[in-house]
Amino acid sequence: MTGGAHEDMHADMADPERGAAAAPDAKRDEPRRGLDAIFAPRSIAVIGASRRRDSIGFALLHNLVANQFEGAIFPVNPHAHAIHSLRCYASIAEIPDPIDLAVVMVPRGAVQEVIEQCLARGVRGLVVITAGFGETGAEGAAREARLREAVRAAGVRMIGPNCMGVINTAAGVSLNATFAPTPARAGRVGFVSQSGALGVAILNVMRDMDIGLTQFVSMGNKADVSGNDLLEYWEDDHETRVIAMYLESFGNPRRFTEIAKRVTRKKPVLVVKSGRTAEGARAATSHTGAIAGADVTVSALLEQCGVLRANTIEELFDIARALARSPLPAGPRVGIVTNAGGPAIMATDACINLGLHLAQLAPATVAELRRFLPAEASFGNPVDMIASAGAEAYGRTLAAVLDDPGVDMAMVINVTPLLANPIDIMHEIAAATRERAKPTLAVVMATDDFYQELELRRDLPPVYRFPESAALALAMLARYAAWRRRPVAGDAGAPAGRELAADDAAVAALLDRAGADAGGYLGPAEAFQVLELYGIPVARWRLVAAAGGADGEAAAVLAAAAEIGYPVVLKGVAPDLVHKTEARAVRVDLRSAAELAEAVAAMRGDIAAAGHHLSGYLVQEMARGGHEVIFGVTTDPRFGPLLMFGLGGKYVEVFEDVRFGVLPLDAWEAGEMVRGIRGIRLLTGVRGEPGADLDLLVEVLLRIAQLVERHPRIAELDVNPFLAAPTRQAAKALDVRLRVEPSMRAPGA
Ligand code: ADP
Ligand code: MG
Repeated sequence: MTGGAHEDMHADMADPERGAAAAPDAKRDEPRRGLDAIFAPRSIAVIGASRRRDSIGFALLHNLVANQFEGAIFPVNPHAHAIHSLRCYASIAEIPDPIDLAVVMVPRGAVQEVIEQCLARGVRGLVVITAGFGETGAEGAAREARLREAVRAAGVRMIGPNCMGVINTAAGVSLNATFAPTPARAGRVGFVSQSGALGVAILNVMRDMDIGLTQFVSMGNKADVSGNDLLEYWEDDHETRVIAMYLESFGNPRRFTEIAKRVTRKKPVLVVKSGRTAEGARAATSHTGAIAGADVTVSALLEQCGVLRANTIEELFDIARALARSPLPAGPRVGIVTNAGGPAIMATDACINLGLHLAQLAPATVAELRRFLPAEASFGNPVDMIASAGAEAYGRTLAAVLDDPGVDMAMVINVTPLLANPIDIMHEIAAATRERAKPTLAVVMATDDFYQELELRRDLPPVYRFPESAALALAMLARYAAWRRRPVAGDAGAPAGRELAADDAAVAALLDRAGADAGGYLGPAEAFQVLELYGIPVARWRLVAAAGGADGEAAAVLAAAAEIGYPVVLKGVAPDLVHKTEARAVRVDLRSAAELAEAVAAMRGDIAAAGHHLSGYLVQEMARGGHEVIFGVTTDPRFGPLLMFGLGGKYVEVFEDVRFGVLPLDAWEAGEMVRGIRGIRLLTGVRGEPGADLDLLVEVLLRIAQLVERHPRIAELDVNPFLAAPTRQAAKALDVRLRVEPSMRAPGA
């Protein structure tokens, strides 16, 4: 299915009628209709236009004129007769023509009044550049809320306030309503930036990096139009092939998830989310909480929506270029063609580190290469044609490598001797790729002359200066292709969203009782019961209350052990004792009544020494075999529950080999979480060891997802360890910690 996903992406685009025909749903068209007044106005009022050359009121007007806006422009300023050779009006009320879009740059104090005039005048869209609203504190936020109310009541869409403006390169529109000095190039990327200042820099970089735009939006404070609205706008826009976003916050994460999941099935969405560390670590007693910062949640959320996350703007553009111009690969296998050894080694390392595979070339491919390459060349992968390789050798070698059925995509490297211009090589590369629907990225280490010439040649494959950036772009192409191949509900072979049988009423009652007032950790008995009610296997256990007298306690513990069967594990129970091992409150593999009695006698003293007050004993069956894993849940105030799976027990601390997921979690996603840990080979079985029952682990994860989805009272859950074992009978939870939020009722009420 070479490039299959990509072909239907193009099929979508080839037929401009399709969007309208396929979506009679009026609600779906709403974002387009509303935003068209902003993106494709026939007339614009520039309110706050200025004659002063160094003002943004002049710069924006100049951009509209210089970029040859196809509609009419009406500057508004009560103190000028004409600006930029255009007749100026004292107020919007005086403009004789109908106005589609008003761009507002007046001082902060006048914005509300101006907007009300615009609404009265019947404008259909607003872009508010003026700053000094929600970003300045409570007073500004109140001013912003009033603005929003007014525009929403009128059914008009507004971008900003505190933004840099909008660009639409579409033929017949040619709108540049920004004050950015760099003109935008037409292309296939829709870009939205939450930061205005960065927006200016981004437009600059885009030009340098040869990225063309459909639309550019600086969202500012997002009082009305948000990133979610723009995702929906671009969803069915046939010109926009890649959606790129610079985000600082998510207004409505749940809604973002829902929209992004849908949009990424049609076209790639790339996000740079800043504030990676700013959200900071929170105090956490659970392993899951300690490992997961807010940023981990964001990454998990983006990944689960099929959104590609870049670390930097530069990375984002490296990836966007490849996505905008290449077909999608059928798999992760890369063929590398080079004229120098060093960069090929760098390329290989980068590809492997990013999870790509180096393709194994077929004997027929090698035989073909031997026919025309010099004997000193390397015929494995990377194919090193050596320094003498000319344009023709590049073309033939790349053709042979791309024709190999074991190659999904290619990286072609050229190290150019000083003063030579490899543009001929690029033409051969382009010719070889044209007939072969496999992505090919070029890495050219050449002089600036080459890059300058390249700027005029957009029919050539994407070119990178270093192998690492090309490798990242290939890895993202592969990741996105895998996402597009992933079955979804409704497809044949899609995981059914089945409901797992569980006793929700009993769980709710238990949580209510336990968290009746203060909330906090459930006792071990209640916590194990919750798992049992949810069909999660647990080690056989008995709880023995501390009676004060050591002799009576020992007798009760021994009786419990007799019921469970030796060997047993003894654990001390005390309020606020969450890390039992550290308090010497876990004794494993007690094989006889004598050993158990001895452990009971010692435990009270050990726990007191650790500063806790013993309230009881947990006696458990001693579980054996398999590997310890962890299932965890922590709650993010904005994003909701975050699920975690990984290697458990002491491995959690050392390796932090875990994967995260957000709700809703389907079977495919749960499978990815379990099979996606680095140490998965431990669980599939190494050196003749039997593998663990992975299907059971996926099921437990889904049960936990359903548990926290239906019982939002659960704030934190650690099942650590869960013993992952070859058989269902041997797999079980050995330890659980569950914290509930306090109930709404006031304590004692
Ligand atoms: P804590 O996490 O509070 O220190 P655990 O109950 O997780 O205490 O026990 C610590 C370790 O003891 C576990 O990681 C596991 O290796 C071992 N262990 C605990 N319970 C059992 C059991 N029932 N059978 C076998 N080993 C156990
Ligand atoms: Mg534990």
